Amino acid sequence: MSNVKILDKEFELFIPYEKIRSVIETMAEKMNEDLKGKNPLFLCVLNGSFMFAAEIFKRITLLDAEISFVKLASYTGTNTTGQVKELIGLNESLENRTVVVLEDIVDTGITIDNTIKQIEAKNPAQVQVATLLLKPDALVKEVELDYVGLEIPNDFIVGYGLDYDGRGRNLIDIFKVVE
Ligand code: 5GP
Ligand code: MG
Repeated sequence: MSNVKILDKEFELFIPYEKIRSVIETMAEKMNEDLKGKNPLFLCVLNGSFMFAAEIFKRITLLDAEISFVKLASYTGTNTTGQVKELIGLNESLENRTVVVLEDIVDTGITIDNTIKQIEAKNPAQVQVATLLLKPDALVKEVELDYVGLEIPNDFIVGYGLDYDGRGRNLIDIFKVVE
């Protein structure tokens, strides 16, 4: 596929769908092994993770697996430490559950660190994290990631659920910005 233009930026093909799918198949195989008998609750962090979550969840063969969808809402707190993001949309009790967080991408790790802390406050038995993509060179938080699809360099990417200013989520492949 040739380059795509989204708003003011040009993007080039970076990870073709076939590669994404094979990485997800491997992640799902490992999850099916690890999560046997655990009645796991998968938590898809919207919006960016919706394609990844669908692709992984249909490969989870455990009949006791459940999935739910949450979102991080930005609001201005009363402190001056910047943006605080609150986990919203959770209807299930996490008490004593095995929770598997599904993230599209871990960049600095601040978002996932904050998400894990809010989940842990709800007394789950265990919290695992699965991210399709990881930018290891951007990490500023020490986070434990149980399943990592692909490590990528610090380039801005779109596609497969990830957006540039709301656009590009419907691209089936992942593209990176052309500087
Ligand atoms: P972090 O808090 O780890 O720095 O960032 C995580 C969030 O930033 C992701 O959930 C995603 O929404 C966004 N993000 C980080 N890197 C990229 C990228 O390359 N492309 C897009 N579209 N979003 C990104
Ligand atoms: Mg995300």
